[in-house]
Amino acid sequence: MSELMPAAFFGHGNPMNALEHNRYTDSWSNFGAMTTTPKAVLVISAHWFVNITAITAMRAPRTIHDFYGFPKELFAVSYPAPGDPDIAQRVVDLVQPTYVGLDEDSWGIDHGTWSVLVHMFPKADVPVLQLSINSELPFDYHFGLGLKLHELRREGVLILGSGNIVHNLRLIDWTMQGQGTDWAHRFDDDVREIMTADPSALGKVAGHHDYNLAVPTPDHFLPLAYLAGLAAAAGSPMTTAIDGYEMGSLSMTSYELPTS
Ligand code: ZN
Repeated sequence: MSELMPAAFFGHGNPMNALEHNRYTDSWSNFGAMTTTPKAVLVISAHWFVNITAITAMRAPRTIHDFYGFPKELFAVSYPAPGDPDIAQRVVDLVQPTYVGLDEDSWGIDHGTWSVLVHMFPKADVPVLQLSINSELPFDYHFGLGLKLHELRREGVLILGSGNIVHNLRLIDWTMQGQGTDWAHRFDDDVREIMTADPSALGKVAGHHDYNLAVPTPDHFLPLAYLAGLAAAAGSPMTTAIDGYEMGSLSMTSYELPTS
């Protein structure tokens, strides 16, 4: 049992963020430098969105280049962190009766994970596991898993949700570098009000006027449900680590659940 429960974090990068240094990547680096080195990092990434809940259980997860049309140096990025099969099994046991499959050879470390971790833990010496997002199940299922993962945090594992609050690729406007549309601001601000006051109320944003624009598909939003569950279990609101918008229809807001 760790004396100090590690922080938990929400943030997300596009593949290019792995090579860049900007105020977002600085925030992730600072977080990694300030936090006590965790026993492992468990990541819920928007990019592993499948019809089952599974956890990576291999000793040496591969780096996945799950994108196309980006510069070739990105395909050379490797994040050779080890896995941790014992922690994978611990998660399976911890969340019962919810079923979690052990993934021995299918997934690995996708760019939702490594675009952040190359900055947060650049030495790749902390074991990394990924938990898939079950695309078939509603918000409450994911929030409930977050509540159960509180115990894992108590055991010294840092939990990272990798997603965006506002993520609408269809409405990207290349002329709006570093800016967000009015509806993106409205939605992001209202989510922030919840996350920094009472994260257990996050589910109510499904009724928000701008929800369908901000969350056209749930993959990038649902990682936040896990953080909301963790925050609710810890009885602590989250703080904003960094915020900003990209190309009108993406918000880059990162949240931190403090060490306790
Ligand atoms: Zn993404």
